[in-house]
Amino acid sequence: MQRRFVFLEAYSKIMNVLVLNSGSSSLKFQLIVTDPDRIHQNADQRLCRGEIERIGGEAIVSAQVGSQPKTVFTAPILDLAAALDFLVRWMVSEQSGIEEVQSPADIHAVGHRVVHGGERFSESAVITDDVLKGIEACIDLAPLHNPNNVRCIQAARRIFGAKLPQVAVFDTAFHHSIPEHAFLYAVPYHLYRRHHIRRYGFHGTSHRYVVYRYSVIANKSREQTHVITLHLGNGCSAAAIRNGYPVDTSMGMTPLEGLVMGTRSGDVDPAVVNVIATKEGLTTREVESLLNTQSGLLGISGLSNDMRVLQQEIKEHDDHRCRVAIEVFCYRVKKYIGAYLASMGGAEGVVFTGGIGENSADIRARICDGLDWLGLKLDNSKNEKAVGREQQISTDDSRLHAFVIPTDEELLIARDTVRCILGEPHPS
Ligand code: ADP
Repeated sequence: MQRRFVFLEAYSKIMNVLVLNSGSSSLKFQLIVTDPDRIHQNADQRLCRGEIERIGGEAIVSAQVGSQPKTVFTAPILDLAAALDFLVRWMVSEQSGIEEVQSPADIHAVGHRVVHGGERFSESAVITDDVLKGIEACIDLAPLHNPNNVRCIQAARRIFGAKLPQVAVFDTAFHHSIPEHAFLYAVPYHLYRRHHIRRYGFHGTSHRYVVYRYSVIANKSREQTHVITLHLGNGCSAAAIRNGYPVDTSMGMTPLEGLVMGTRSGDVDPAVVNVIATKEGLTTREVESLLNTQSGLLGISGLSNDMRVLQQEIKEHDDHRCRVAIEVFCYRVKKYIGAYLASMGGAEGVVFTGGIGENSADIRARICDGLDWLGLKLDNSKNEKAVGREQQISTDDSRLHAFVIPTDEELLIARDTVRCILGEPHPS
């Protein structure tokens, strides 16, 4: 409580929040100005966004300040800590042109996207020593992701000092409402007890954001919100939302399960792991890597994980493997829509988001094709025009509506950061 008052005193003003999403060789960032009034009025301001890629050598830094054109340059950056140090120096420099930030003291808080919050974190949290230990304890569950998040949090502490509030926003947190019958795998129960093997789900911040936007657009209360949200990007996941909260989601213990993705297989018979290992002379860890990085759209097409490349190839050469990759992708999404409608007792809408969901009318049309019997009729003209903006794309007389709602995970992370620091509940 005392901590909260300290924060309140120091931050009873608008806050420049640095949002960080750290990967193994990349650091995505945004600088967002927000406060409770701006959140309420949906008037948060984005000062800068960008990414540092290929950390570990000559890194590529791309950044866009306000609505100015994107700048891209390279710099030798050896690790994540050096990347954050570089980023802060660049932000406060004249070169960046960010007038609101003249020194590190002008950054008032840091919000981190943390991949795995395990069973402990059901909502975003101010990062205390105890919370940091909790994030470290989840490394077992996300050995490829959480260590980067921990490193990034520690680097931010070193750069800004321990007093600067930092908040963790977990990819898994929104899915905490999923009931036992949907999160348990049918494997010996002691494996759940001993090793916490269960479905957790990911992309929670994205699903949560589009559920919130849907409720605003459709003028529904949270309790009245029953939708299926489809995050279709390079990673893909579906969530069944009943009374505003997930009752099921397609990603599992790791992000590998569920829909077909850019390079991930999604659902496969677990027995194929051993078959592939034996036939190809690989370890099971190598097979897991193959399922994560060489499968999905890339694996079937043999060409690319990028949906646009496959679409272009079909147009130009009618390539069979590209066509079938897209067919498998869309069929899997359709199958999940059917399964979730049954498991959640019906829904009033399907929401498309993520790079593919927001931008590809063709993929949306393929997924919705043949769902008229469920009451979902696409308005082709609206669907074609809905590119990267909020739009209902079903006909008005549909019983099951379809929407495009661009996601904005960074905005939600910035808002949660402010709300956690001020001790306010997260309404959405
Ligand atoms: P990430 O999951 O890495 O955040 P995105 O949400 O940006 O990825 O989605 C990336 C995917 O979106 C890529 O497969 C890309 O081809 C696809 N995409 C982006 N724009 C379009 C478009 N206009 N048509 C089809 N696919 C698109």
